[in-house]
Amino acid sequence: MRIDLHAHSSVSDGTDSPSELMRAAADARLDVVALADHDTTAGWQEATDAADGLGLVCVPAIEISTIWQGADVHLLAYWPDAGDEDLQRMLAAIRAGRRTRVPHMLAGLATHGVVISEADVRAAAGDAASLGRPHVADALVAAGVVATRQEAFDVWLGDGMPGHAPKPAPPLDVAIRTVRAAGGVGVLAHPWGRGSRRVLDAAALAELAGRGLSGVEVDHVDHSEDDRRALRALADASGLVVTGGSDYHGTGKAGLALGAFTTDEACYDALRSLAGGPL
Ligand code: AMP
Ligand code: ZN
Ligand code: FE
Ligand code: FE
Repeated sequence: MRIDLHAHSSVSDGTDSPSELMRAAADARLDVVALADHDTTAGWQEATDAADGLGLVCVPAIEISTIWQGADVHLLAYWPDAGDEDLQRMLAAIRAGRRTRVPHMLAGLATHGVVISEADVRAAAGDAASLGRPHVADALVAAGVVATRQEAFDVWLGDGMPGHAPKPAPPLDVAIRTVRAAGGVGVLAHPWGRGSRRVLDAAALAELAGRGLSGVEVDHVDHSEDDRRALRALADASGLVVTGGSDYHGTGKAGLALGAFTTDEACYDALRSLAGGPL
């Protein structure tokens, strides 16, 4: 079984629609793919319908923006109930924060003579439910300021750069609890990727396991071979399930093919058996 537990669609900052993503997953010979858009479940229905027709399993997931000890930490949530009111309230608040930060990002760009309007960003975002920095990047590409999304991040939008504004988000432990209460499981996304490495050490992983975290995404493009070995050992020590995923964004992020990183079947089964279980 080929299982990729981390992919994005155009419902957030990927470029394939949910059904195009499922078609691409089938073409990549995946058996299971998780649709994990940022802070929204809006793509789930289309994706699961498309997957059914392709003989593919779509795991309904969310990549939730959270804060832990002052750092941005992403939490992958698998199989939570989309009808859970606390979960949807939390996600709606994050999406509202994503919208209100856009003018701050544009003001930061304007101080450097780069003038982009909110309408430009909205046009770049299309009908995405969750607005993100990549859409501002697309607006910069459309305006001819940069050639690619990646250049936009490298020059203007990366953490701490003029076009980056912080995003209000719930504390990580609150997000984990909310996902568990909605019958889902929480897995730390790329814990040693950009930003979050500083705050997610061995002690933090053990503490989070005690607070209801179920797993850690180990096999991810942001992690070196050494990182993966070390993270795997920490996960084992804390009883956390190890996962892997491509973090596919369509043409939005070059070089991340569906299935480039995968999750072991036994780990997938272990996660699934934790979902819906006792808190
Ligand atoms: P946001 O959640 O709106 O702050 O946007 C974060 C998203 O932008 C991530 O999920 C990545 O897809 C992308 N991203 C963040 N930092 C970078 C970077 N330095 N280079 C390329 N893409 C990035
Ligand atoms: Zn993204
Ligand atoms: Fe992420
Ligand atoms: Fe992601």
